[in-house]
Amino acid sequence: MIKANDFYEHGLALHGHKCPAMPMGLRVGAAALNALGVERAADGQLLALVELGEEHCATCFADGVQMITGCTFGKGNIKKLHYGKWGVTLIEVATGRAVRVTPKAEAMLANKQTAFFKDYREKGIPASQVPLEVVQPLVDRVMNAPAEQLLSVGPIFEHPVERHPHSFAGLVCEACGEMVVEGYARLAGEQRVCIPCHERITGIREPRLAP
Ligand SMILES: [Zn+2]
Ligand SMILES: [Zn+2]
Ligand SMILES: [Zn+2]
Repeated sequence: MIKANDFYEHGLALHGHKCPAMPMGLRVGAAALNALGVERAADGQLLALVELGEEHCATCFADGVQMITGCTFGKGNIKKLHYGKWGVTLIEVATGRAVRVTPKAEAMLANKQTAFFKDYREKGIPASQVPLEVVQPLVDRVMNAPAEQLLSVGPIFEHPVERHPHSFAGLVCEACGEMVVEGYARLAGEQRVCIPCHERITGIREPRLAP
């Protein structure tokens, strides 16, 4: 059994401020790991699909999920679905066994009705500037509430994962001299170059998700 509380201090160190959303990510991640009966991913054993979008409240949630599941940006085994929701689907890659866990709407709404949001966050005050006596009760509530009050855990289902070997091939961009992964290199005339150099030299912008 993975316990969210065992990861709180690490989560806080990673995240940087006290808020209820990072702890909610720990609770959701713990519930998903325990539903699948799996350990935190040391490598790419698990894949997490988080439903968060961009630039909305409580995206802090993802840091709790990363901390406890070991599905991290660095390992590349966490993906955003951009739904603007807080569900997480955790998948055991080898078997394709998956579970979706989501915070209950009532629990999310209860957090929104507190001074932390109404008097501070919604007025643009950063979470790190909120007095401890305002934020700590929210953190405690999320960390200690019974799982059934906080979360919905779905059934185990099949979610096969296509596996791609990681590329180890790289080359030096002939324009800027920086390393680039082979599959990301482009041809500008005779030169093998990186994408930013290719865009600068040719004036052709590549379609992609990043801003
Ligand atoms: Zn936060
Ligand atoms: Zn819906
Ligand atoms: Zn370059």
